[in-house]
Amino acid sequence: MTGRVTLIGGGPGREDLLTLAAARALADAEVVLYDRLAPHERLHELAPGAELVDVGKRPGHHAVPQSEIEALLVAHALAGRRVVRLKGGDPYVLGRGSEELLACHAAGVQVEVIPGVTSAVAVPGAAGIPLTHRGISHLFTVVSGHAPLTDAELGHLAGLGGTIVVLMGVGSLPSLTAGLARHGMAARMPVAIIERGFRADQRTTIGDLTDIVIAAGRAQVASPAVVVIGEVVRLAHDGNASAAELMERAAGFAVVTP
Ligand code: SAH
Repeated sequence: MTGRVTLIGGGPGREDLLTLAAARALADAEVVLYDRLAPHERLHELAPGAELVDVGKRPGHHAVPQSEIEALLVAHALAGRRVVRLKGGDPYVLGRGSEELLACHAAGVQVEVIPGVTSAVAVPGAAGIPLTHRGISHLFTVVSGHAPLTDAELGHLAGLGGTIVVLMGVGSLPSLTAGLARHGMAARMPVAIIERGFRADQRTTIGDLTDIVIAAGRAQVASPAVVVIGEVVRLAHDGNASAAELMERAAGFAVVTP
């Protein structure tokens, strides 16, 4: 019995953003436990010999609880199977990958981790927004919007400069923007929300710290989305006009589809 687990970062959802190592592990898998945000439409072709298990989670609806996912990984591996755990983005960026790794280690199961393209970097890029740009921003911070930030965290973030990237941040956008403003972030600081990165219906909503919540409400912005706060948002380009031009044209904020 030589079961093992390969923990794969599947990237932001588009199949050709899987790494070659990920594709090889899938081709060799006997069981695949996959998430909603991982590329999964053609898994039956990528992993033709595998039983496919959807353990996908929607915000607020944990389809399969984390502890159960970990128990499943261990049970399949202990039964001698080659198990792939296919996760969205990179397993170690707000993805609970290390919890799954530790659960396997605790059960004596061998684990390999294959990194993935994280949505934190790739999804802003898909909207034409670089996280750094010489002279504009030389650092970025990735935060989870899943739970509210503390006042101390908001204070640090507002004072740090650079670019702020928020994952799982649609629900907490009002408290986040209000908190940053309270701690002195400029009202005109540009904010972009990129929904469904790399999908055909990818959409970007752009505003500033004071009006992005209104813009998001009007556009009915929904998860999954990546929020970017910082001057780099001005560099976003829809192919015809810059974000700055778009914001001006739309009297404050704009919705951009590629
Ligand atoms: N480990 C993952 C993040 C998991 S948290 C990674 O490295 O990308 C899930 C959050 O990621 C979503 O709520 C959303 O904020 C973001 N996300 C992942 N894929 C996305 C996509 N294709 N488009 C927009 N946001 C995405």
